[in-house]
Amino acid sequence: MAQKPNLPSRKLKPATLAVHDGTLRSQFGETSEGLFLTQGYVYESMEQAEARFNNTDPGFQYSRFSNPTVSMFEKRMASLEGADDARATATGMAAVTASLLSWVNAGDHIVAAKALFGSCRYIVEDLAPRFGINSTLVNGADLDAWRAAVKPNTKAFFLETPTNPTLEIYDIAAIAEIAHKAGAKLVVDNVFATPIFQKPLALGADIVCYSATKHIDGQGRVLGGVVLGSNEFVSGPLQMFLRQTGPSLSPFNAWVMLKGLETLALRVERQAESAGKIADFLAKHPKVTRVYYPFREDHPQVKLAKKQMSSGSTLVCFNIKGAKKEAFAFGGALEIVKITNNLGDAKSLITHPATTTHQRLTPDARAELGITDAMLRLSVGLEDPDDLIEDLDLALKNV
Ligand SMILES: *Cc1c(COP(=O)(O)O)cnc(C)c1O
Repeated sequence: MAQKPNLPSRKLKPATLAVHDGTLRSQFGETSEGLFLTQGYVYESMEQAEARFNNTDPGFQYSRFSNPTVSMFEKRMASLEGADDARATATGMAAVTASLLSWVNAGDHIVAAKALFGSCRYIVEDLAPRFGINSTLVNGADLDAWRAAVKPNTKAFFLETPTNPTLEIYDIAAIAEIAHKAGAKLVVDNVFATPIFQKPLALGADIVCYSATKHIDGQGRVLGGVVLGSNEFVSGPLQMFLRQTGPSLSPFNAWVMLKGLETLALRVERQAESAGKIADFLAKHPKVTRVYYPFREDHPQVKLAKKQMSSGSTLVCFNIKGAKKEAFAFGGALEIVKITNNLGDAKSLITHPATTTHQRLTPDARAELGITDAMLRLSVGLEDPDDLIEDLDLALKNV
């Protein structure tokens, strides 16, 4: 008997797609996605092998190019994002690298926001120029700065929003318009917003990338990444770059990510709700001098945040009264919240950006991004928000 279609063809909502879309069932009809730990695929005949290689027989060839479990993850991500297609990678950094270097050439120019994840900043500031791709870093919130940075050879704009760690918001639609006028493509690293809270492609971006290590796994287990965009881009330059350079996602990690996607919407909605409560608690606390949370009325870009995102964030950033000594005393006194540089986990995690994630930047570069020694970044997990607030409250008493 023929397999029943996995989903009806009518339009479905993200939570439904995140549970079902892309599932390929083997002849066993397994309910949960199969984990295909195989490097290669056996052909029925030499003729079939030939046809597979000249693309006249659709199917798998080698797991560096594609694998059924990885393919399920890619299809499900594309469906959730509203992209034509997607390719998964071994890490978020492999995704960022491929989303730029798969199609930008020597002699081209990249404009990027200054507030980038450290390794992303390395790609545009140090790596790309070694291969003849120059870059200009701008204040991402300043639309005139994007316009002024454009050169005749500008091919790509690159940004993250909300930014790490200060949760600044950049106007994706306006920046996409500037990019397109200049004949450039906009690439958005959408990690902090998640595919649930922000849809860069719908706002005008051309390419979206993720570290799936963060909210998509969501339980601190495996590394992974994904790049999404048009069919032309994904099956053209992106596919070629990934296939030939080889940063493939392991099928095991893809399987973990697929299970993560099933609960992504539930998790991030709950985490953002708790983050909002925690931001309100911190804002009222006498030992906290400033809170950064995109959906709070005191956030300088709250209107823009509400326009382009459907929820604040699962992260809260704040400045404690004092400096490094006070920030360290507070972090050290936390009992439920763990000290680590990761984010998007079911466990609440705290980071002191100045001495960890942003340690490599010069003090001036940190100051320019508003990162002080009194600043802490909290990734809110799935614990009961009342327990988290109590943990924060007790630790603040210790300062
Ligand atoms: C973590 C992160 C990355 C890199 O992802 P990995 O999976 O660690 O390689 C890139 N961009 C942002 C915004 C991130 O938070």
